[in-house]
Amino acid sequence: MNLHTYPTHTLMDITARPPTVFVKGEGSWLWDHNGKRYLDFVQGWAVNCLGHSPAAVADAISRQARKLITPSPAYYNAIAIELAAKLSTLSGLDRVFFTNCGAEANEGAIKLARKYGALHRGGAYAIVTFDGAFHGRTLATMSASGKQAFDVLFEPKVPGFPRAQLNDLASVERCIGPETVAIMLEPTQGEAGVLPATDQFLRDLRSLTKEHGLLLILDEIQTGIARTGKMFQYEHVGIKPDILTLGKGLGGGVPLAALLATEAASCFAHGDQGGTFNGNPLMCAAGLAVLGEVSQQGFLDSVMEKGEVLTASLAKLAHEHRLGEVRGRGLLQALALGKPVAAAVAAKAFEAGVLLNAPRPDALRFMPSLILTQGEIDHMVAILDQILGTMNAGG
Ligand code: PLP
Repeated sequence: MNLHTYPTHTLMDITARPPTVFVKGEGSWLWDHNGKRYLDFVQGWAVNCLGHSPAAVADAISRQARKLITPSPAYYNAIAIELAAKLSTLSGLDRVFFTNCGAEANEGAIKLARKYGALHRGGAYAIVTFDGAFHGRTLATMSASGKQAFDVLFEPKVPGFPRAQLNDLASVERCIGPETVAIMLEPTQGEAGVLPATDQFLRDLRSLTKEHGLLLILDEIQTGIARTGKMFQYEHVGIKPDILTLGKGLGGGVPLAALLATEAASCFAHGDQGGTFNGNPLMCAAGLAVLGEVSQQGFLDSVMEKGEVLTASLAKLAHEHRLGEVRGRGLLQALALGKPVAAAVAAKAFEAGVLLNAPRPDALRFMPSLILTQGEIDHMVAILDQILGTMNAGG
């Protein structure tokens, strides 16, 4: 089928897209309008934790659609209550507010922290954030992001987001003043190229925030829901945040995200927060189906095991092609190339039927389905090996 049969020009041109239209997905695989098959290591940007169109999610949505799609967020619904209770048990946090995307969850986290500052910290409002951070595309979350390309966009920004450097505690301490109410970070910066905060840095931030009476906000939108081999990355570290945001994997491919907080930090009053679609049973049913799958015995161990296979395979490629380091945890990893050729490598992989992401000029990111097989890892690695061999990508 010819691409021209699709009027693609009616979509706003907000990013460069390959001349391909995807029409079907199953597990680790996608099919385009010509029937070509692709092995997907992007998975909707780390969204499809159970792969494409998983039966558990599809069944839950279709059952729920016939029963109740939305009664309005001004009324309770049983599915949202059940999902909130499960998330609370899993996370150790007390209260949940559902949103439609990660940016909206982070926007809510920022509002909650500012409210907390207004009520308990004499009007403190500033939130220490980090170079390289990505928290979303609303105006406040772009202001909280440390992505250089955002610096010049949509001025003036929302004020109150001093920036520190990841894994540099002194830089955080320098940002703290009487106006500070919270510290906000991704435990692994995904969009910046899979740059993990060290476990020690996260522990130090937890101690520092306790010492100063500040809130610790963890954005686990990319790392949460088993992506790193634990339900939440902070479990690797042995800390607990005051505020947590989740998204991506939570809906297994559908728009569902969440803002969670301890009882002490849950200070919204009526009218402070809301939204038409928030906590609708249709999306929450998908969330329940996802949690049902990822909570199965052995699921987290299998993510860890496949993560180790991926790490070992990437390390072998790095050695053979004289590339850089392999970073990340579980099934969120990056391979540093020696040169700024990541976009070209990803383009060649696309031609060869493998979807890879190049989050920065010299790094590839791997965020496959959490239920992919070892054979699928081997297939991706074999194709990447061939491409790297033709490109001399090492430093
Ligand atoms: N926070 C992190 C860590 C993310 O990776 C993303 C998306 O990539 C977001 C927030 C924004 O989420 P969404 O695109 O669902 O608004």
